Amino acid sequence: MIKQFETYIPSNLVLYIGSLVENEAIDFKVVNRRSTKHGDFRYNNDRYTITINKTSNKYRFVLTLIHELAHFFIFKKNRLAKPHGLLWKQKFQSLLNPILNKEYFPSNLLSELIDHMKNPKSSFCYDINLSKKLDLYDNVNDSIYIDKLNDGDIFYYRNLGMFKKINKRRKRYLCLRIDNDKKYLFLGSTKVKL
Ligand SMILES: [Zn+2]
Repeated sequence: MIKQFETYIPSNLVLYIGSLVENEAIDFKVVNRRSTKHGDFRYNNDRYTITINKTSNKYRFVLTLIHELAHFFIFKKNRLAKPHGLLWKQKFQSLLNPILNKEYFPSNLLSELIDHMKNPKSSFCYDINLSKKLDLYDNVNDSIYIDKLNDGDIFYYRNLGMFKKINKRRKRYLCLRIDNDKKYLFLGSTKVKL
């Protein structure tokens, strides 16, 4: 279950996150970036679903995941609890506390995070200091190998603009360049940007 997340979260947090969700029936999905949110939690037809935006920023990904997990745990206990109310804040704090140290986060990000978690907001984007620190890690590892993308994903390649991954053809990936509607083949090891 956590397998699909392993490439998106810091490797030293895989075990911890795995331990949080090992007995839970949650569908996890990594989805293309939505400008309105980083992740969400839904309950539908007796199923729990958490979606997280695809990003190369592993800190953003894991923090969003824990934010959504807090929704899940609170919702399971009390469906009427406010989405970002006191119960949620406490749950978010208790899930994040064990890893809120420099073993897991770089010190500049950690100090803002500790501050933020005293009274977490509904989104990190409402905390300007934390947002700025988090943004620093958006570009560090901005590129991703094309074989890590799903069919249909949009990506940027060098200065050639936007492409869409179509599917695998033998050892290469067929992609559509949005600009000119032409098709191109890329090796799986090609680095692209989301
Ligand atoms: Zn939320």
